Amino acid sequence: MRLLDEILEYNQQFVEEKRYEEYTTTKFPNKRLVILTCMDTRLLELLPKAMNVSNGDVKLIKNAGALVTHPFGSIMRSLLVAVYQLQADEVLVIGHYDCGMSGMKADVVIESMKERGITQETLDMLNYSGINVSEWMHGFDNVSDSVKHSVNMIKKHPLLPKGVPVHGLVIDPETGRLDAVENGYEGI
Ligand SMILES: [Zn+2]
Repeated sequence: MRLLDEILEYNQQFVEEKRYEEYTTTKFPNKRLVILTCMDTRLLELLPKAMNVSNGDVKLIKNAGALVTHPFGSIMRSLLVAVYQLQADEVLVIGHYDCGMSGMKADVVIESMKERGITQETLDMLNYSGINVSEWMHGFDNVSDSVKHSVNMIKKHPLLPKGVPVHGLVIDPETGRLDAVENGYEGI
C-alpha cells in the first residue's frame, strides 16, 4: 500500500473510533503563546513534551530553520495573525542544534536541483528576473545568532504591538534541553 492510501485508511478508523475526542480544544491557545520553530523530524513530539505543551496550548508555526527571512513574508504574517486574532500574547522563536539549515550551502542545493532535472537555463532565467536563488537557499552559520536575528526582526516589526515579549531559545534535538538566548521580558 502506498503512503497516502495507508494514511487515509488509518484516518477512516481514527474518525470512526472517535479517537479525536481526547484532542478536543479551541483555536485559541490556552497558554496565549505563539511558537516559531523548525520542521525537523526530531522535534515533532519532543519539543511539545519538553515544554509541557499539549494540544490547544499554543499556536505552532514551523519552517526550515525557524527563520523569519522576510518582514512581510508568510511567517511574519502568521505571527501577526496569532497576536491580533488568536490571543497570543507572547512570541517564542526556537532554533535547534544540528539543524539542517545550519551550514547549508546554496551551491550544494543547486547541484542537487540540477541532478533532479532543473536546468541551468531555468536558473539563469530566474537570475535575470531578479531572483537570487543562491541567496535564497543559503542557510545560517550559527543557530544562536540566527535565533537572535529572527527575534529582532519580529521585535522591531512596525506592525507588532508594544508590550509583546519575543523570546529566543535553542533546543537540543536529542535531550530536549532548552538554552535561552533572548529573554523577551527584558526591555519591554
Ligand atoms: Zn532545523
